[in-house]
Amino acid sequence: MRGDESGGPSVTNRTSGSRTRPCLRHPRATPEKSLTLERASRHDHGLDGFLFRRSTPSGMNVGPAEILLDLTSDNMALIKLSDYCCQGGERTIDASRFTMDGLRIAVRGNRELIFSPLGNAPLAPRVALVGITPGGQSEAFARYLRFLSVPDAAKRAAFEGAQSQIKELLAAHGFAESIGLSLAADLNESPDIFTTSLVKCCLKVNGSYKYKAPEIAASPEAIHCVANRFLADIARFPSLEWIIIFGDPGWAAVTSLRVNGIPVFNRIKGMGVEVLNFPHFAQNFQQRAIFCLDESEEADYLKQKPKHAPYAQKAKRMRSALLAAMKRRSSVPKPFA
Ligand SMILES: [Zn+2]
Repeated sequence: MRGDESGGPSVTNRTSGSRTRPCLRHPRATPEKSLTLERASRHDHGLDGFLFRRSTPSGMNVGPAEILLDLTSDNMALIKLSDYCCQGGERTIDASRFTMDGLRIAVRGNRELIFSPLGNAPLAPRVALVGITPGGQSEAFARYLRFLSVPDAAKRAAFEGAQSQIKELLAAHGFAESIGLSLAADLNESPDIFTTSLVKCCLKVNGSYKYKAPEIAASPEAIHCVANRFLADIARFPSLEWIIIFGDPGWAAVTSLRVNGIPVFNRIKGMGVEVLNFPHFAQNFQQRAIFCLDESEEADYLKQKPKHAPYAQKAKRMRSALLAAMKRRSSVPKPFA
């Protein structure tokens, strides 16, 4: 083992209480104690890693030496994919040096599934926000996974870059307010919101994230995820009252995919929740705009923007379904009321 004069970089101890930063040329001149980082090999323990030492100005080691980062391959932080994904199998990845290829769970023809179990894990959510599959957010997940745990990376990447659009949709027609849903903070941090997707293992078709319901239906892995993991996720929360499926392909998937002969839509509806289709947060801004309009504003809007007319029919259907569900729910007597 090396001595104390390792020549490793000195790191100022932030808890030393001194407001003045030590002169970098004389790192030992100011701090009472300093942290020293050095590469250490301890073959006697089969360890190789970085060693942090706390030392006094005289260089004397005063605290217990601590191995913070162990670099031996058999001690790397291995992630077992099946702990987080319905189809992880026996696959593992190394948290610190995985490649995008390592995240690929299944390849079948032009379709592939990528490990990307996006979403949060609240205890008793009332609203589920359901994407189709993680799409481009799977890349954000892979980035976060380099320095966060799987659950934290999955939570942070869920609906990344789309929160303001989703909040606008949830605020439309007073929906969020009517159910007492706060939109002030990050959606993934809300105790009332469960974020997830139909196919959680990210589905890619021809290397792209564009997919339609038939492509989900054509992928046994994607169907497996919807039929097993998604339905189980929803059943896990008896507190859920609202399930919001984003986009046309997501809606087509829940209404057309059957599990043991029963459409997914009927299965989740049968759990006593309202199942709604909202415009997709990243596609068809025209559909979002029309969805958010008050019915009385619609004629004027379409007169000014005739090119948006082709989006009106679906947007109106989504809006009417939301308004009808809000009316239905508000007439349901609240427990203990
Ligand atoms: Zn899955």
